Amino acid sequence: MKMGFNEGTSLGCKGHTLLADLEACEKYGFDYIDIRFDCLEDYLQEHTLEELAGWFKSHHLKPLSYNALCFFNWKKDAAAQKAVFDELDHIIKICNAIDMKLLVAVPTFDIKEHASVDEIKADAVDMLRKMADQCALSGIGISLEFCGAPGCTINRFDTAYDIVTAVDRDNVGLTLDQYHFYAMASSWEALEKSDGKKIFVYHLNDTENLPLGAAYNTDEKRLWPENGCLDHARYTSTLKKIGFDADVCTMEVFRPEYYQLSVDENVRMAAQRTKAFIAKYFGS
Ligand code: ZN
Repeated sequence: MKMGFNEGTSLGCKGHTLLADLEACEKYGFDYIDIRFDCLEDYLQEHTLEELAGWFKSHHLKPLSYNALCFFNWKKDAAAQKAVFDELDHIIKICNAIDMKLLVAVPTFDIKEHASVDEIKADAVDMLRKMADQCALSGIGISLEFCGAPGCTINRFDTAYDIVTAVDRDNVGLTLDQYHFYAMASSWEALEKSDGKKIFVYHLNDTENLPLGAAYNTDEKRLWPENGCLDHARYTSTLKKIGFDADVCTMEVFRPEYYQLSVDENVRMAAQRTKAFIAKYFGS
């Protein structure tokens, strides 16, 4: 199992930049990094994609996924849908420039309409099929990340899984983020029945034990693994049983307390925790 780092983990640290993350991830042994759109935009103020591609060529660390295309679904007119496809064109160019083969698509939050789950599924399937066609020529995959927040249109594993299986394309799967799975009480039964090969990205974290759906139960309450209430043994044994084979687990926390650390110290701790997690649950 390879080690991945998501830039959300160090985003708020003093002096945070994409380059600082890259150097620290390389130093502490990460294999992959999820690149955030906002960090990349900042980087490109003073650097080029060619420079970034050159950096990856000369280091062990490789880009895993683009985080993220927000927000891809429930666009109620052609102009709003076109804006998503235009943004995707832009992301595909970035992916091609640095040989990154995956992007994460995040669902829309807080819609005005009182849409049913079936209406949301039908719309998301239609959008993802078009996006999959757009990405296919470049060999890029799309990983739908359901978010365990009450206001998110796709906020449970089973909904996201139904969508990606209905899309029925090899280059469309989903992200299993342990916090998001817990935060809207996704069904273990649904995960146990799923095909693990449809899980393209695995986000590792822990969290405080708070009432599900409470307004204060947010991403900021995430913790390093083994510090909170998540059942890591169950997540990992289930992933093994269902044939998850993406072979990377990616640390992703957004805890303000961890932003008090320097980027170097934050990434060092993330690496130590990821390594320990892999050794305990995956053996290597
Ligand atoms: Zn995540």
